[in-house]
Amino acid sequence: MHEHVSNYLDQYNVTETARRFLSQAQRMYVDGTWVEAETGETMEVYEPSTATLLTHIPSGTVGDVDRAVAAARSAFEDGDWARMTPRDRERIMHRIANLIDDNAQTIAEIETVDNGKAIIGCLDADVGGSVETLHYMAGWPTKIEGAIRSVSTPGQHFAYTLKEPVGVVGAIVPWNWPFNMAMWKIAAPLAAGCTIVIKPAQQTSLSLLYFMELCEQAGLPKGVLNVVTGRGSSVGQHLAAHPGVAKVSFTGSTEVGRTVGKAAMEHLAHVTLELGGKSPMVVFEDADIERVVNATQASVFFNAGQVCSAGSRMYVHEAVYDDVVQAVADRAQAMKLAPGLDPKSEMGPVISQQQFESIGNYLQLGEQEGAEVVCGGHTVDGPGYFIQPTVFGRTDNSMRIVQEEIFGPVLVAQSFANEDEAVRLANDNEYGLAASVFTSDVSRAHRVVPRIQAGTVWVNTHDLIESCMPFGGYKNSGIGKDLGPEQLDHFLETKTVWIEL
Ligand code: NAP
Ligand code: MG
Repeated sequence: MHEHVSNYLDQYNVTETARRFLSQAQRMYVDGTWVEAETGETMEVYEPSTATLLTHIPSGTVGDVDRAVAAARSAFEDGDWARMTPRDRERIMHRIANLIDDNAQTIAEIETVDNGKAIIGCLDADVGGSVETLHYMAGWPTKIEGAIRSVSTPGQHFAYTLKEPVGVVGAIVPWNWPFNMAMWKIAAPLAAGCTIVIKPAQQTSLSLLYFMELCEQAGLPKGVLNVVTGRGSSVGQHLAAHPGVAKVSFTGSTEVGRTVGKAAMEHLAHVTLELGGKSPMVVFEDADIERVVNATQASVFFNAGQVCSAGSRMYVHEAVYDDVVQAVADRAQAMKLAPGLDPKSEMGPVISQQQFESIGNYLQLGEQEGAEVVCGGHTVDGPGYFIQPTVFGRTDNSMRIVQEEIFGPVLVAQSFANEDEAVRLANDNEYGLAASVFTSDVSRAHRVVPRIQAGTVWVNTHDLIESCMPFGGYKNSGIGKDLGPEQLDHFLETKTVWIEL
């Protein structure tokens, strides 16, 4: 660990457990054992607020994926997991959730150091949300049921359906909510009785590796959950294409999602793709401005804007445009940018040099395209990958900054004249992950919600998420749902049974 990182840990008094974990040699978790990559190769991991080396993780290979899938296959077919009753599966899942709760501060510290995000939001959203998701999904195993059907065949028949776990799940997750996205991918298949091989993003594997220590404590049988770290192009690609994987569950960019989906189709695996977004916020003239401002804080300016469902495109009725945009910019400008471990930090750095440059390029592009810089507009000089919260005004839908996912703290705003125009502008985008509508007119809210092409529509808020509510995209934002009973269903096969009496 670089001395800048170790000074950073000292400055904010991180827990002994987090320090021990961050200082140790990292290994991955396959078939109930801690292993290096078969080649012994590792890759570097950086701390984003100091931009210095944090640690190394194993650079997994195709062979490592094969071993992990074989372990998951054998745990699925004849291990303790396959024989475990639904009630015992529930108990293990609740136990894991409780262990996360008990170790919340340690997990949040590991995540913050690895990813850069502000620790207060991390404790609440990433870790708190994960505990909730595991408890929610832990409620399902005893409630999975088929149906008896009233058939009319000649002779006497008893006909029914059984719901069965689909098999080995290959899960791939991004770096923006590393722990939380991993829990979204793990909880539902565990509840269904599946086994899992998961690949975290190479920038952010640490919180998931620490989590495996908790799974060991909770008594999760070996082979049920396997973690292979490494590159998407090798580990991720091979996992999606693996014939031993029955279901591919991916969260990440639309571009990689297409590749992953094709690889899954080659062996006819089930597939869920949770992809990118450029979600509109539609603000009518009767909106409560305070709620609009709060919503931008909870989405496009939360997690340094690295939020798939961020309300990053704002359409405001021309009568209130200036007031709304100014209020949003005033609050954005007042945000405290600081290293993630600082408990007062409202915005940490973005994840990497690459994202820092990519967002910086979009900031320049916005000016070139003729947008008005209402606030921010620049990257912050180092150390660390900090970006000024930015609002671009007077934009239009022909601009790239309005059409493309920037994945940083950058809001683009423009005005509209009437409801039809607002809906047309909001839908004029390849993505359809989420949207929000701000109005105090109940009739208008109900009129507009069905017209918006998005998997989630919020009214007078943005980015509320809970485990009982399905989350997933329309259009190029994906296929299938995470969370809710809808997600559980993605991990179940239906078997039709006929008995002649
Ligand atoms: P990404 O580049 O698509 O990577 C996502 C994951 O896929 C990483 O683990 C990556 O591995 C892996 N990967 C890369 N190439 C692969 C390949 N050829 N085959 C299989 N796996 C491969 O996305 P990201 O940059 O990490 O995350 C940001 C994106 O995720 C944004 O577009 C965001 O909107 C989206 N997202 C969507 C949701 C949702 O619920 N809809 C939630 C969060 C984020 P490595 O990076 O380790 O190489
Ligand atoms: Mg990436």
